[in-house]
Amino acid sequence: MGAKIISGTEIAAQIREELKQEVVLMKEEHGLVPGLVTILVGKNPASVSYVTGKQKTAHELGFYSMQDDQPEDISEADLLALVDKYNKDPKVHGILVQLPLPKHINEKKVLNAIDPDKDVDCFHPVNVGRLVIGGEEARFKPCTPAGIQELIVRSGFETSGAEVVVVGRSNIVGKPIALIMMQKGKGANSTVTVVHTGSKSMEAHCRRADILIVAAGVPGLVKPEWIKPGACVIDVGVNRVGEKKSEKTGKMVPILKGDVDFEAAKEIAGAITPVPGGVGPMTITMLMKNTVMSAKMSIK
Ligand code: NAP
Repeated sequence: MGAKIISGTEIAAQIREELKQEVVLMKEEHGLVPGLVTILVGKNPASVSYVTGKQKTAHELGFYSMQDDQPEDISEADLLALVDKYNKDPKVHGILVQLPLPKHINEKKVLNAIDPDKDVDCFHPVNVGRLVIGGEEARFKPCTPAGIQELIVRSGFETSGAEVVVVGRSNIVGKPIALIMMQKGKGANSTVTVVHTGSKSMEAHCRRADILIVAAGVPGLVKPEWIKPGACVIDVGVNRVGEKKSEKTGKMVPILKGDVDFEAAKEIAGAITPVPGGVGPMTITMLMKNTVMSAKMSIK
């Protein structure tokens, strides 16, 4: 029997509808509109496309949204002053500085200058620390891991007591999703194992997983025989493996593959995310969710 395909596109659309309703209510009940500012330094085409996508979504959800474009040669001091301006602006609940920044700017210094209460990407050490402590202390969750958790929960998989195996230990995906899934509480409470390039018997660990989350950036790393029959497989990897001609536009577009051998894995797994259309669409949506949460937190 083939696996259920977990559509990130559909689940993201559902969450966006819920957020739209929340924004309407917040406006009616508190006269408050969630505000998101995206700061873009330079004109890197990939970064332009990411911030445009974020602004478009924020606009569709009824946010106060603003894109602040800055020249490639902005000084670090001027960028820090800009962040400080938005830290103090009560209309802004979320500040996103698009990475990467030019080499003459210290990225860490800029990210750490964002007010933790407006750090909707959840990169600030204070928010990472809050996530480690968990419970009421936790505020934002980083966007890709938060999206992964939503995909698992909304697909009806029981997380409490489940064996979760995470492949990869990056600060953006592997470590935070491991932390999130091990928290005490709903949608988590799992027994978590993290594997990486230093792990022995990676295959044996993966085979025990009721929920297998793969974020290695290696196309086809996880083979079908590594998957426990019926498991939920979340493939975070997005790897360019070539180019093809788009049927719609006739232009060359990248061929994307995940870290899991999808075609073979879907015959064994209980549910699996596709690439593209799985985790990808969730990331921007969770950024919007964090901005709504930040606006709510600002209500005294
Ligand atoms: P990363 O920073 O390169 O980290 C990769 C992790 O995987 C590292 O911990 C590395 O182990 C581990 N790893 C690599 N090869 C391995 C192997 N052969 N066996 C075991 N472990 C291995 O990558 P990332 O930022 O976490 O991203 C991972 C993938 O997810 C990429 O394809 C990226 O494009 C994708 N991604 C997608 C989204 C989305 O929204 N869809 C968001 C973020 C990332 P070591 O620590 O031992 O080196």
